[in-house]
Amino acid sequence: MENKLTIYNTLTRKKELFTPLNPPYVGMYVCGPTVYGDGHLGHARPAITFDLLFRYLQHLGYKVRYVRNITDVGHLENDADEGEDKIAKKARLEALEPMEVVQYYLNRYHKAMEALNVLPPSIEPHASGHIIEQIEYIKKILDAGYAYESCGSVYFDVEKYNRKHHYGKLSGRNIDELLNTTRELDGQQEKRNSFDFALWKKAAPEHIMRWPSPWSDGFPGWHLECSAMGTKYLGEEFDIHGGGMDLLFPHHECEIAQSVAAQGKETVRYWMHNNMITINGQKMGKSLGNFITLDQFFTGTHPLLTQAYSPMTIRFFILQAHYHSTVDFSNEALQASEKALQRLTEGWEKLNKIVPADNTTIDIPDLKAKCYEAMNDDLNSPIVISHLFDGVRIINTVAAGNASLNEEDLNSLKETFRTFLFDILGLSPGSASTASASTQPYEQAVDLLLEVRKEAKAKKDWATSDFIRNKLAEIGFEIKDTKDGVEWKLNK
Ligand code: ZN
Repeated sequence: MENKLTIYNTLTRKKELFTPLNPPYVGMYVCGPTVYGDGHLGHARPAITFDLLFRYLQHLGYKVRYVRNITDVGHLENDADEGEDKIAKKARLEALEPMEVVQYYLNRYHKAMEALNVLPPSIEPHASGHIIEQIEYIKKILDAGYAYESCGSVYFDVEKYNRKHHYGKLSGRNIDELLNTTRELDGQQEKRNSFDFALWKKAAPEHIMRWPSPWSDGFPGWHLECSAMGTKYLGEEFDIHGGGMDLLFPHHECEIAQSVAAQGKETVRYWMHNNMITINGQKMGKSLGNFITLDQFFTGTHPLLTQAYSPMTIRFFILQAHYHSTVDFSNEALQASEKALQRLTEGWEKLNKIVPADNTTIDIPDLKAKCYEAMNDDLNSPIVISHLFDGVRIINTVAAGNASLNEEDLNSLKETFRTFLFDILGLSPGSASTASASTQPYEQAVDLLLEVRKEAKAKKDWATSDFIRNKLAEIGFEIKDTKDGVEWKLNK
């Protein structure tokens, strides 16, 4: 297929035609969660945004290696170089081993991602599993002269780097501005400048997560893991690096500086950033009481929620906005998404019941081409969705008997829905009102079994028909015979 995908590159501030370094291979790195608490809407947005990209690139025929890291060490409380490690703090408060905290929340994160129909990445490396690579990376930066050791810690020399290169090129900030805005912090006297950032931190005696290094027993700085693991799994240069806009500065800016310092060149071709989610117009924050976890959304157990919302409703809600725009959560907005998704899935169900006519009597725009055009325009999912609604209007007209479709047009409409609604937008059919997130092949397999059962019934082969029904029930499927056919759902 001809590649027409354009993506907005944060680095050049332009929409660019996506041209991978080494087609058909695409390397893609996305900053994953720091796992010290349950996932919330702010976690769902990058996961769904880059899942959309991952699905679409694969659909276009690329072989994508998608790396999404797990931050399990080095992310300090204030996102800079001071404060307690977020995971160590949780471990201390709950009297757990830090890796118990990581495993517990990682399992829950995976469950939430599966419910949202987010495909697992190709590699999910942990920062704590790559300490050696990070130490080697620091050595390269030290050798190049862009870092210095101070009291057992190693800091990146931002001012020296900026004399030759441009620190701030991604976020558009400049050092003078940084000098004026950086607060005085404890332990800052170790640094030459307040905006220098830690590559390695010497661990205080009470700090549990520590590893030996040439400089001290300590732990890596937060920004380093992504440079080290991205390079390890995707090479010194790779195609796409993504994450939330909140990571633009300092996290991604520091990654660029680290890679230029260590290897003399930048690593990433296209930087992509999803915008943030606000709740009733406010930023999400634990102290604001509007911090709603994904599980609370799925079960409706948060004072701000008037009902439970299915994972597919959440996914659809996020995809209804372009990833570059902000999204504001409210119960009204989610309820509107729930209804809209229901209209789409009902349209799909109706479409499957339409019998082809000899000719088509309704004007059908080339919906498939329009959907591709929208996806190629920097993953414009809201426009894809509006084209699918045009499809639903056609389906409703035909289903009401006011127009007809011939076999070719009917099949083309079905293929458009299958491709865009299910494969690319990743919205699983029939799941608008249930919490189960299923993939298409599995649903097709159940349908196939029910087809065999139907044939057995037609032949009065009750043994086979009961066997299929009972076995499916044992697994947890509820089968209901209705006058329109068989309905099923998975009770979890
Ligand atoms: Zn990162």
